[in-house]
Amino acid sequence: MKIAVIGGGPGGYVAALKAAMMGAEVTLIEKNKVGGTCLNVGCIPTKSLLACSEAFDFIKEAENFGLKSDINAEADLAKINSRKNKIVDNLVKGIEFLLESRNVNLVNGFGKLITKNQISVTMDDGSEQIVDADKIILATGSKAIVPGMFKYDKKNVLTSDETLELTEIPKSLLIVGGGVIGCEFGQFFSKLGTKVTIVEMASHVLPFEDDDVAKQLTRAFKKQKIKIIAKDKVDSVEVNDGSVKVVLGSGKEIEAQKMLVSVGRRANTENLGLEALNVQLDRGKVVVNEKMQTNIDNIYAIGDIVDSPLLAHVASKEALIAVENALGKVNEISYKAVPRCVYTSPEVAAVGMTQKQLDEQGIEYKIGMFDFRGLGKAQATSKIQGFVKIIVDKDEKIIGASIVGAHATDLLAELTLAVHFGLTAKQLGDVIHPHPTMSEAIMEAAHAVEGKCVHAVD
Ligand SMILES: Cc1cc2nc3c(=O)[nH]c(=O)nc-3n(C[C@H](O)[C@H](O)[C@H](O)COP(=O)(O)OP(=O)(O)OC[C@H]3O[C@@H](n4cnc5c(N)ncnc54)[C@H](O)[C@@H]3O)c2cc1C
Repeated sequence: MKIAVIGGGPGGYVAALKAAMMGAEVTLIEKNKVGGTCLNVGCIPTKSLLACSEAFDFIKEAENFGLKSDINAEADLAKINSRKNKIVDNLVKGIEFLLESRNVNLVNGFGKLITKNQISVTMDDGSEQIVDADKIILATGSKAIVPGMFKYDKKNVLTSDETLELTEIPKSLLIVGGGVIGCEFGQFFSKLGTKVTIVEMASHVLPFEDDDVAKQLTRAFKKQKIKIIAKDKVDSVEVNDGSVKVVLGSGKEIEAQKMLVSVGRRANTENLGLEALNVQLDRGKVVVNEKMQTNIDNIYAIGDIVDSPLLAHVASKEALIAVENALGKVNEISYKAVPRCVYTSPEVAAVGMTQKQLDEQGIEYKIGMFDFRGLGKAQATSKIQGFVKIIVDKDEKIIGASIVGAHATDLLAELTLAVHFGLTAKQLGDVIHPHPTMSEAIMEAAHAVEGKCVHAVD
């Protein structure tokens, strides 16, 4: 069986590796570097940056731990960037090595469907190659949306792509959009000394998460002097030499050296030959069924180009499902337990339903909460901010959870497992959790659902 994959991000390269492991003859077409947005300009570079600003914090907080420190720490963005680039390069090489080891034929060029079994690939030098395939997996990802009014010039008005390439720490940064990308960049630059303002249309940053969750992050941002302007939007933009001035709907004026526009992403579906083949699209996204199959039976689509959460781990999971179905096994995707992580300080992590969603849908639920400050480990490490919240349905099955605090993104795995397998709060609470760890807050929150939390009073 010949499988061709267009796009080598966490959707496409995982699909290529999995298909090769299942015995298919695989061609992976990538116009840029393997690893896609996630590895080259997304998840990994941003986390590398955040690790630097966190290290900066450790130094500044040293005295609180009884350490006399006379280090006068100063951020060097060139060195921070070169560390980040080295990490990315190594990981790209790692993927290339895996692809080569699995005999995946990596073709570097722009892929376009010409028939339901043929792809033309245009190479950088303009030459063309035709790839034949029995099954095709589309995994071309997404790019930042920048509405025309923002006057995107890649110099003063930036998307996350250019923000990752800044060579100097901006004196001031206006971030439009308080979602995950806006919050992560905002905190990174603020810790390096930039005056950061975040403008968010909704009533709080991280608009998809519950109010109590967002409030914790807002509190931390305020302490850090990040200015959040919620329930407002940019009405007009003026770009001058070396600065950007905006007027908000409320009439407020903001001037900043740089502006990052992080208001959403658009699927890369143009010039792919989809319309000519009548591949069904809905609002620019490829329509698929639970098997990740499009309306053309041998063509599958995964990752940011389909209507599912724009997350690397979702793309990779969809890749495995698409490949299994393409190679004759039957498997269906479920989005019941998709982890959502924000790598700020405190970290924010959530899975499944939010209270907000349940209220909107009129679904009955109960919650159990536990504050990190009640834990020995949190006190010992001075990481007391935040909580674990567990949401159960009327049968006490865990259907959602949120964590705010240190290591929230790692701790979330246990609650993801609970939501995935439909565990009850009692089942989770019955598990012995190691002491002293931050994970005890999960056990305590599970006990709290039943009003049996021994380390808290009602
Ligand atoms: C700043 C930022 C931070 C992020 N942080 C996180 C995070 O922490 N965790 C997380 O889960 N997600 C994060 N994301 C989202 C994550 O990067 C995406 O959800 C993920 O990369 C989607 O994977 P994909 O394979 O669908 O597409 P992509 O990773 O976008 O890969 C698509 C690939 O297809 C190639 N391509 C496109 N068209 C063609 C063509 N016609 N021919 C050949 N090649 C083509 C592109 O060059 C690209 O390499 C972040 C995104 C951004 C922008």
